[in-house]
Amino acid sequence: MTRLTRPDLDALPDYVPGRNVADLARELGIAEAIKLASNEVPFGPLPGVPEAVAASVANVHRYPDMGVVQLRDKLSDRYGVAPARLVTGCGSVALCEHLVKATCLPGDEIVYAWRSFEAYPIIAAGAGAVSVRVPNKPGHAHDLPALAAAITDRTRVVIVCNPNNPTGTAVPKPDLDRFLDDVPSDVLVVLDEAYREFVTDASVPDGIASYGDRPNVVVLRTLSKAWGLAGLRVGFLAAQPEVAAAVRKVVTPFSTNLLAQAAALAALDQEPEVRRRAALVVAERDRVTEALRKLSVDVPDSQANFVWLPIGDRSGPFAAACESRGVIVRAFHPEGVRVTIGTPSENDAFLAAAEAALA
Ligand code: PMP
Repeated sequence: MTRLTRPDLDALPDYVPGRNVADLARELGIAEAIKLASNEVPFGPLPGVPEAVAASVANVHRYPDMGVVQLRDKLSDRYGVAPARLVTGCGSVALCEHLVKATCLPGDEIVYAWRSFEAYPIIAAGAGAVSVRVPNKPGHAHDLPALAAAITDRTRVVIVCNPNNPTGTAVPKPDLDRFLDDVPSDVLVVLDEAYREFVTDASVPDGIASYGDRPNVVVLRTLSKAWGLAGLRVGFLAAQPEVAAAVRKVVTPFSTNLLAQAAALAALDQEPEVRRRAALVVAERDRVTEALRKLSVDVPDSQANFVWLPIGDRSGPFAAACESRGVIVRAFHPEGVRVTIGTPSENDAFLAAAEAALA
């Protein structure tokens, strides 16, 4: 057949959808399967969010506010960042894509750690940029000096995922301070803080508070995880006004949709509840980590709402064994398995499946 699409995209993996919970439950003949594969928080939408969405439904024949003014003002109050420095989008993954579009020309380099968020290589390839992957350290954390050393005069962007998906590891402030001092001022550093709300280690910096004033730092945040809006897709970035303005030029118009804007406004009123839920997740994260270590899995300390099982080529079979017991986890074969922290009973079901799978 005549070639109609870019041949360089052949090197990218096809999207493989995660296992559907309802299908799995039917197949296994059980009432409910458990999904611990996408790092969502398991406690349902925040109070007030369903009502806000329902109230907006009457207006879905209209475009949303393209400037996202109300939401940017609210984010500005909450995070202490001027609205001109904020851009919202269809999840932070879309903002990362827009940021790359606004910074990289074909052939430019994007440096990031590996393993890290699986969207990064796809975003780089989509822009025709070159991915430069820097292996994590043996303890699974980012190797910041190696990331800095990988920068060349073609590098436009360096991504630091803090905490890192899928390993859960986080980099402390003194290391990040030194790294940021080492990065040339014409290279943009993206701090992807999708899991910031689950960080309990005081040495791990809040990128907005600590580095928001640095001209070449951009912080990505999402409302998909701790704020419970994964299904509505809202993320934001904080950057210098010039960078934010450039990103705004390439954002898909109206991509922070009407329901998403209403939901985000309602969610941001629920900060105490977000904190309460994050604390429940953290307590369970620590319990699951301990239990897995008793099963001789060398789980690194996680600062996110998931844990990493570095079990190498046992990863695929382990995930399949969990699935056969009704628990869906995410295998990155042959490196490891990422397991999202769920409710206490979901985590118990996972731990029972893990014990059986490792036996
Ligand atoms: N960054 C990281 C590190 C993530 O793990 C995710 C979600 N898996 C995102 C960004 C994207 O989140 P969203 O697009 O839902 O805001």
